[in-house]
Amino acid sequence: MTLTPDFLDGNAAAGDLESVFGTDMTVATGRCRGCGQRMSLAQTRAYLRGPGIVLRCPGCESVLLRLVRSADQMWLDTGGLDYLRIPAPQ
Ligand SMILES: [Zn+2]
Repeated sequence: MTLTPDFLDGNAAAGDLESVFGTDMTVATGRCRGCGQRMSLAQTRAYLRGPGIVLRCPGCESVLLRLVRSADQMWLDTGGLDYLRIPAPQ
């Protein structure tokens, strides 16, 4: 029996995150509130099978970011991050 992970890397969430922030978020970096690990969003674990996307810390599995979209609204929760550093538009 082969087990396959139920997550992808954070690049899988790039399109949805870019639609919120208007820039490529895979190179944005943050620090996990749970364990203090710093990482780019591309290095996070993306869970895409729910009603939205969930990014989890590759170090401790804490939820870093949640994004849920309805027909006319989006909900964003970054409560698992101490900070999110986004490259400024040029
Ligand atoms: Zn962590």
